[in-house]
Amino acid sequence: MKSGLKIGVLAVQGAFIEHKRMLESLGCECVELRRKSDICDLDGLVLPGGESTVQGKLLRELDMFDELKERIANGLPVLATCAGLILLASHISNDDNVYFGTLPVTVKRNAYGRQLGSFSCKEDFAGREITQVFIRAPYIEKVLDDECEVLSQHEGFITAVRYKNQLAAAFHPELTEDRTVHQYFLDMISGK
Ligand code: GLN
Repeated sequence: MKSGLKIGVLAVQGAFIEHKRMLESLGCECVELRRKSDICDLDGLVLPGGESTVQGKLLRELDMFDELKERIANGLPVLATCAGLILLASHISNDDNVYFGTLPVTVKRNAYGRQLGSFSCKEDFAGREITQVFIRAPYIEKVLDDECEVLSQHEGFITAVRYKNQLAAAFHPELTEDRTVHQYFLDMISGK
């Protein structure tokens, strides 16, 4: 069934195909955002995992940065995973860069160290248990605004939050078959 929603998926680097597949299976129309002219009238935006430094650099080189930042700041619903969370964060504790900076959290990049670079676990997300895949993931050290709602935690660290129009996860919901997080995002767009 069609959701009638048109979602832009940032497609300059990283795991964007998987998000696109997941959203299409939920009835969305997806637009791959590869250059500035791809940024059209959208109901939502996905910032996928990958490498935040590379994505940040490409966003600037492709002149997409300011346009996307403005849309997010103006309320465009965004789902950000892993590197995407780093792009949104207002503070990065172990990196001098700030990218969009629209999400009031402090994140730590590559927070689980080398040995625990990648792992999966089962954790609660907004009241429902899901499998979470972490790949050289960040975690959220601190939320910096009372309106920032914690949706998931792993071993005492925050791994998913919602702040107004922004939903961000340190893990990769697009790499499992479970559509809970993407459905949550679509419900958020529809104001459910
Ligand atoms: N380690 C990456 C970074 O710092 C994020 C990893 C990911 O998106 N899977 O940007």
